[in-house]
Amino acid sequence: MRFGFDIDDTLINLREHAFHIYKKKLNNNLAIDVFHAIERVEIHEPFGLTDEQGKSMWNLSLEEIYYTDCPIFPGALETLQRLEERGDEIYYVTARPKEHGERTKQWLTERGFPVHHDRFFYGMQDHEKVHIIRKLQLDYYVDDKPTILHTLKDNKTKLYLKDQSYNRHLDEFPRIINWTDRLF
Ligand SMILES: [Mg+2]
Repeated sequence: MRFGFDIDDTLINLREHAFHIYKKKLNNNLAIDVFHAIERVEIHEPFGLTDEQGKSMWNLSLEEIYYTDCPIFPGALETLQRLEERGDEIYYVTARPKEHGERTKQWLTERGFPVHHDRFFYGMQDHEKVHIIRKLQLDYYVDDKPTILHTLKDNKTKLYLKDQSYNRHLDEFPRIINWTDRLF
């Protein structure tokens, strides 16, 4: 089987990691409950930043957000390793910017993720993921963003949504709440 995975907030807990980085940088001791209540992908609002300031904060912090010790969701690494061991093909489809593709690959490899260089796609916009996923004829695809899964609905790929505070209002896709649940 051919499995496709988004990376950020699907396999690794990037937004929460970024939330802690923002707290330090902005010297703001917001409680983690505040993070869990955010109903959009962007995390800047509780820090009192405008969308524009939030965007700039994200871009200025990107190096630290991407390449420090962002936690992997429990069970995600083991799930992918198990799929690799049983002979399934694993593809990564991430909208991380082009200049971060190779280092992201290396970061994942160092943490034990099974990465094949010809099965790693990056640098596209969210709405362009659909073209890659169609071309790859994936059997399964997992992402945290419902807008991306919507673009794939008429495809034969089985779609799974990684549960997040900003997608809980939707019930049209099967949901991965814990990777330890061994859905695949
Ligand atoms: Mg994502």
